[in-house]
Order: sequence, then C-alpha cells, then structure tokens
Amino acid sequence: MLKLIFAILLASLLPTGTSFAQDRAITNIAGDVYRFQNKFHFSIFVITDDGVVVTDPINTEAALWLRSEISKMTDKRITHLIYSHSHGDHASGGAAFGEVANVIAQKNAPSQIDGVTPTMRVDKASSIKVGGKSIELTPLGPGHGDDLMAIVVQPENVAFVVDAVASKRLPYRDFPNSNVDDWTDQVRKVEALEFEIFAGGHGPIGVKEDVTTGRIYLEELREQVLSGLKSGKSADELASNVTMDKYKDWASYDQWRELNVRGMVRHLNAIGAVN
Ligand SMILES: [Zn+2]
Repeated sequence: MLKLIFAILLASLLPTGTSFAQDRAITNIAGDVYRFQNKFHFSIFVITDDGVVVTDPINTEAALWLRSEISKMTDKRITHLIYSHSHGDHASGGAAFGEVANVIAQKNAPSQIDGVTPTMRVDKASSIKVGGKSIELTPLGPGHGDDLMAIVVQPENVAFVVDAVASKRLPYRDFPNSNVDDWTDQVRKVEALEFEIFAGGHGPIGVKEDVTTGRIYLEELREQVLSGLKSGKSADELASNVTMDKYKDWASYDQWRELNVRGMVRHLNAIGAVN
C-alpha cells in the first residue's frame, strides 16, 4: 500500500509533457511514405526496394527511436538522409542514424549539421531516384532561414516542407530574423510544385490547398498591417486591431496572432514600405 501511494505521489510530481514514448508516432501517409512525429515536430521517411530515405532526425533520442522502428518495418538500410534545413530543432541528431551513404542538404547549409557532413549539396531544383521513387528537391531561397528545401516524393505525391508554411497553423511567432516578403516567396515556391498531400514539419497533415491558404494569410496580414501603418496606427494598436478573424480556428492563433502582426510591423518598417 505504501509503495502504491509512493508511486502515485511520484507520478503526480512529474511535470506534464515529460518525454515519453507516446509522444512519438509513425503513421502511413500514402504508399511507402510515412510520417514520423516527435511531439510537435514531424518528418517523413520512405521505404523503397533499394533502401530507406529519412529526412529530419529532429534530435538524437528521436532519431534512435525512429531507426529502431524502421528496422522492425524493413530489413533495408537507411541509404539517404535529407535535411529540410539546418535549424537545430529539426536537424539535430543525424549521427544517430549511423553511417548513411547519401547525406543531402541545401547548398547554404553549414559544413556540418550537428556533426554530420552532407555528401551532396543542392543548389537548384533536382531529383534523385531511389528504388522506383523520385525524390524532388527544391531550394526555396531565403526567408525562413537560407537553406530551406522542399522535398516531394513521387509517385505518392507527398510534399514535406518545414516551417515556411504549415497546414491550418499560424506562422511561427514574429518571423524571427526574417524578411517576411522572402518568407512569403518561399510559400509561393511550394505552391508552384506538383503534389497533392502536404506533410508539414508542424501541425496536421494537409493538402496542397492548405499551402495556398497559408500564402493568402501572409498576404492579408501584410495588407492589413501596411494600411494600418500608412494611416498612422502604432504597433500596439495594430497588435490589438488586426485580428485575422478568418483564421481563429487555426493552431497557435491565440499564442502567435499578435506576434505575427508585430513581426509584420517590424518587417514593413525595415524595408521602408510605409513612406
Ligand atoms: Zn526552422
């Protein structure tokens, strides 16, 4: 009895959100393409006849878990590791996949990504063939970081894009360190690609139209903030008045709507759009 009480007491002392295995999941997206979830971060992987293609490792523990789960699904080796971009919250822990023959990153990525050296750098839209799949890599230019790349898997028609756009979710906070017009151009480049299913680095799985809606959100935000600034409104006034009501049901609306407005104010002032 004492032991039981102690166990309950101990459980109640653990912070909620402590990392347990149930924060991780693998789901089939389509055909041989799978989505890997580690709490609020997602990546994809593809099991082909010639090997397994993984994308963002997220972190060491996540990648070790994923590697072990993949080994239960196939006896094929991990032959390709493709980074969406080099930001640490998505790109850490790649070494946990072991020796991978082909490590692919956009050309602006650092020489090592958390200790892993890319073997191939992508400077223009290109595709690689692995076991009957075509994996199309498209550098998205500057915006959210400067080494972001879209990854589309055919024939499954699945796009994996991280951070520049997510399905039914506001963009991150105040667009830190970013030119928001460049960021919006990244979304337009994603929109121009051929695919049906959208698998973001965050948020629920979506379809291509979610990318379009994400681009429209950015355009409407820009238009409203710009016209407010031109009519002499302050950042604080805009932060409370530009409510973007249409998007109330999107994830992170309550936390990031005001930050999105403030980030747009900062950007429009920085590029001198107001005068
Ligand atoms: Zn990022």
